[in-house]
Amino acid sequence: MTAQIIDGKAFAAGLRARITTEVAAMADRGITPGLAVVLVGEDPASQVYVRSKHRQTVEVGMNSFEHRLPAETDQKTLLDLIAQLNADPAVNGILVQLPLPAHLDEALVINAIAAEKDVDGFHILNVGRLATGQKAMVPCTPLGCLMMLREQLGSLSGKNAVVIGRSNIVGKPMAQLLLRDSATVTVAHSRTADLPAVVRGADIVVAAVGRPNFVQGDWIKPGATVIDVGINRTDDGLVGDVDFAAASQVAGAITPVPGGVGPMTIACLLANTLTATARANGLPDPEGLTP
Ligand code: NAD
Repeated sequence: MTAQIIDGKAFAAGLRARITTEVAAMADRGITPGLAVVLVGEDPASQVYVRSKHRQTVEVGMNSFEHRLPAETDQKTLLDLIAQLNADPAVNGILVQLPLPAHLDEALVINAIAAEKDVDGFHILNVGRLATGQKAMVPCTPLGCLMMLREQLGSLSGKNAVVIGRSNIVGKPMAQLLLRDSATVTVAHSRTADLPAVVRGADIVVAAVGRPNFVQGDWIKPGATVIDVGINRTDDGLVGDVDFAAASQVAGAITPVPGGVGPMTIACLLANTLTATARANGLPDPEGLTP
């Protein structure tokens, strides 16, 4: 069997086209969604991400506000900026690029963002709302994975899903989203006993481990849908957490790296900014962009 390749790049392009149309419709009502991105310090990977976020935000017709602060910025200065963005009606979404320099308290900073503008979905209120089935802002990467899974499988109800990884930004919210769609969810992690056996029972595998080619082809149940979140830089270029060559011989469908989950993350950030803007203006949530 050769798996169908889930084309995240094309999916993300379709999503951005749809968002562009919705932004144009909002413009007719005199509303322009605005996304503020705060970058503290000079982390090279973060600078690349922030540049792509800015470019794509502008491309869909939203306002992009960039705030670049020096690495030695103190906590009060950063919190003052967040308070200012919270109060600014032109700003619908606020994203503080992580990681922050070590002297800043990441949790304190994230929780200072107004929950309704927290387009990364990391604020403690949004985490709680997602876990309790309330209207939340949902973290972008797992939201993108959910959209691709729904597109691929239709209903996820009753499927056995294994999420490998329990981070706050990918693994845990992914598990919540799958549970919300009535999958039977197992969260595996570095202490899981007999991971291959756990994965072999799964109709859906989401790998968010951060280890190149970690998930082996013979762990995959024939016909399973495999979502590879991993982004690992190796001598062979960018590779995922799944041994793609082997797994794609067994799976029913699989995301490649690059070109799978990666492009969906920023598209979902824009989707969240659109949702936040709709909510701020008393409009209904745009269809299909929220769980
Ligand atoms: P993390 O380091 O915070 O978490 C990794 C998780 O993997 C941990 O929960 C750990 O328990 C688990 N793990 C580690 N070793 C394991 C093992 N031997 N067996 C089973 N589980 C093990 O990482 P993260 O932030 O969740 O990111 C995971 C990967 O996804 C990374 O490669 C990251 O670059 C990538 N990522 C991609 C996107 C995207 O946009 N595509 C977004 C976020 C993260």
